[in-house]
This record gives sequence, C-alpha cells and structure tokens, in this order.
Amino acid sequence: MGVYAVTGSASGMGREVADKLVAQGHRVIGVDLREADVIADLSIAAGRREAARKVLQLADGRLDGAVMAAGLGPAGGKERVNLLAQVNYLGVVELLEAWRPALAAGGSAKAVVFSSNSTTSTPMVPRRTIRALRAKDAGKAVKSLKLFGRGANALMYAASKIAISQWVRATAVSRDWAGAGIRLNALAPGAIMTPLLQQQLDNPNEGKMVRRFPVPIGGFGDAGQLADWVLFMLSDAANFLCGSVIFVDGGSDAYFRTDEWPRAVGARQLWSYQKKFRGFRPY
Ligand code: NAD
Repeated sequence: MGVYAVTGSASGMGREVADKLVAQGHRVIGVDLREADVIADLSIAAGRREAARKVLQLADGRLDGAVMAAGLGPAGGKERVNLLAQVNYLGVVELLEAWRPALAAGGSAKAVVFSSNSTTSTPMVPRRTIRALRAKDAGKAVKSLKLFGRGANALMYAASKIAISQWVRATAVSRDWAGAGIRLNALAPGAIMTPLLQQQLDNPNEGKMVRRFPVPIGGFGDAGQLADWVLFMLSDAANFLCGSVIFVDGGSDAYFRTDEWPRAVGARQLWSYQKKFRGFRPY
C-alpha cells in the first residue's frame, strides 16, 4: 500500500480523495488549514515551506503520489486576488517541487493537480497575469489586474488555473519528472457541489453566473465521482498518462471550444515542432 500527500484534505474533493485512499488501505498525509496531519497556511511562503518539510518528514522521504486539491474559488473580497495567486499557483508548484525527489523515490509515483474548466471558459484573462504567475511573481500578477475592479477575482482564478495547467504540461514531460518515472497530470472539473461552489452560489452575482453557465449534461458534478477520477489517475491504469489536462465538466469545455481542440499543427508552430521532434532523446 502506498503513501500519498493530499492538500486540501479537510473539505470537498480533497477530503473525498483522502477518504477513498484510506478506504483502499493507503496512508494519507493530509495538508490543510485545519483537521489535517499537517496544519499549514499555503497562502504564505513560510506555510508552504513548513508544509513541504513536514510531509517529507512524515513520509520518510518517499511518496507514491500527491494530490493537490487545496485551492480557493473566486468568491470573496479584494484580498482574494492575492490569495488565489498564492494558494492556487504557488501552493501547488512550490510543494511539488519540494516533493519531487520523494516522488522519484516512489518508483512510479503519480501526482494529480486540480485545475478547472475556467481555464477555457473565462474570457479575457490577461496573458501578463499568467506570465507573472509562471515567473512565481504573485505581486506582479496581482498588480496586472489592478484596473479590473470586481472582475479581478474571476480573472485571477482563471489565470491561476491556466498557469498551473501550463506548469503541469511543461513539467510533466521533463527529464526530472517523466524521466524519473513520475506521472504528473491535471484534472479540470466544471462546477462540482462542494463548500467552494456553495460559497459561489451564495453570492448574488456569482450565483447567477454559475446557475446560467452552459452545462450540456446539466446540473452540478459530484465530489465523490471527481475523487474517483483522481484515484483512477493515481492507479496503474494511468501509467501512460503524462502531462494531460482531463476535463470532467458536463461538456462545457467541448461546448465552448468545439473546433478549437484538437487542432492541426499550423505554420506558426512548425519550427518549434520540428525542433522538438529532432531534439528528443529518450530519457
Ligand atoms: P473546498 O473549499 O471544499 O476545499 C478546498 C480545501 O482547500 C479546503 O479544505 C481549504 O481549507 C483548503 N485551503 C484553502 N486555502 C488554503 C490555504 N491557504 N492553506 C491550506 N489549505 C487551504 O473546495 P473544492 O471544491 O473541493 O476544490 C478543490 C480544488 O478543485 C480547488 O483547487 C478548486 O479550485 C478546484 N475546483 C473546484 C471546482 C468546484 O466547482 N468545486 C471546480 C473546478 C476546480
């Protein structure tokens, strides 16, 4: 049986994942603000460092997997813009970077990151916000949304999930990750009934948007079913899954991006495609 680190283990989908892993006989090291093995605040650098260190200590330097479910939604006051950058992006990247050697020691470890279908359904997310996050400059990312007023939370939420999905894809295929036998992937849920979604539904403006949002299959997703997807992505069935962003969202992504993905490699990408093709050496 394996040892798994699960952030956001006290609520919603992270909690469902932790419960299901324990039910399968695995050991879970939960990380959260409360009710967890490691109590840590991932919105500050010291909290992230401490969480990373304590998990490594409890796991004895070896992990079979990690599930990064700690995260915030867009509902909240002005301070939420910074929290979203800190928790949703840095709270994933800094912990996974610290845990990489322990995951490599696991042999064929798997890491699953919670993205969102907001990545492809939120219009007008500034590229400079995503760039600043990728550069780990949360202050610059926050500044880039200064003029957006009340819309800044939704834009930072989407930017944090776009940036983390891009990080997953870039990192997953690298020598240090794929080459070390670690499978790193992301799950992009639509609206799933959890305390996070409830907070959005309780907000008059956001609630209206969420209820009107196009979901071809209808309704909201179930947290337990999303946890089943995570368990599948941690299982041997996912040995060939690497750098994927899996949308489980009732069809919203397909509805909005119908003909945009998959897309043929165009003239603009040809040079970088050829360079990567020729430059690849098996890890
Ligand atoms: P949730 O609110 O039920 O659980 C999130 C957990 O993260 C909570 O236990 C919370 O305490 C923890 N957390 C938040 N800030 C933290 C901090 N500073 N330090 C440590 N822990 C912190 O949310 P959920 O709906 O289960 O969301 C799980 C993940 O899925 C999040 O990353 C979220 O963005 C993403 N997501 C959710 C939905 C949805 O509709 N519920 C949709 C797409 C993506």
